[in-house]
Amino acid sequence: MSILVVGTVAFDAIETPFAKTDKIVGGAATYICLSSSFFSKNINLVSIVGGDFPKTTIEMLKEKNIDTQGLQIKEEQKTFFWSGRYHNNMNSRDTLETELNVLEFFDPIVPESYQTSDFLMLGNLMPGVQKKVLKQMKSKPKLVVLDTMNFWMDNFMPDLLEAIKEVDVLTINDEEARQLSGEYSLVTAAKKIINMGPKHLIIKKGEHGALLFNKTEMFFAPAFPLENVVDPTGAGDSFAGGFIGYLEKTRDTSFNNMKKAVVYGSVLASFTVEELGTKNIKEINHKKINERLKSFEKLVSF
Ligand code: AMP
Repeated sequence: MSILVVGTVAFDAIETPFAKTDKIVGGAATYICLSSSFFSKNINLVSIVGGDFPKTTIEMLKEKNIDTQGLQIKEEQKTFFWSGRYHNNMNSRDTLETELNVLEFFDPIVPESYQTSDFLMLGNLMPGVQKKVLKQMKSKPKLVVLDTMNFWMDNFMPDLLEAIKEVDVLTINDEEARQLSGEYSLVTAAKKIINMGPKHLIIKKGEHGALLFNKTEMFFAPAFPLENVVDPTGAGDSFAGGFIGYLEKTRDTSFNNMKKAVVYGSVLASFTVEELGTKNIKEINHKKINERLKSFEKLVSF
């Protein structure tokens, strides 16, 4: 079993009410790979960086069993850069800057050995690139998960609508679900979005948890309540990595198992937000994950 992850590997500059950083390593695919590495020993990365990206980070990914053969390095160009500022409640943020750099002309090449990956995680990226990756798969993956954001809805909606037709699970946040469906009620929004093609929909609600839908069922998991939230960046990606990683490990894509995967995703996301950038998701271990999972179970059982 293996997971193919496509998404940004990036530099981020982040401002929250509690912290501010210059350029640090981020990117949707970085968080996804790190998070799913707790479940899967076979993660294949397709992305692109510039010559300015630290080689030590690429080595760190390799040490965590992440195959970087599909990571293109454009020595003469600059890595994708994103900067954002969080509002006081930390549930919403403004994008201050998005410099596409290497991403502008990114032509994803899926190495032959990745083309039969069983699980495909199309991380947040241009919908056109997500479609190109889907097309290169030799065999239909057991599960395709697609994550996206308002930036692509604002600028590439027709492409995005095409891409989501083919996926098993779409993950977006509550604002994006409202934007995509034109509905305020998330239940009505979910019905409309599922009619657009995806078999399942996950709506992430930040500190208010996550909802999972298919055509007939619905499941809700809260976010783990934390004393310290330092930086929410990458929470959604860590969630997605935990979600798909758990499904790959258990080889079970039923709705019932997806419920557990949502809880694992929430656990992994809870670690990411406790520190700046990728610091915590890089440093935690299985023991910490299992302890938090137990606390999570206690929290929701009555
Ligand atoms: P999240 O907080 O889970 O939404 O993910 C934040 C990560 O997404 C950051 O590390 C950014 O580098 C990356 N990111 C921000 N904007 C974009 C974009 N338009 N496309 C792809 N990745 C992005």
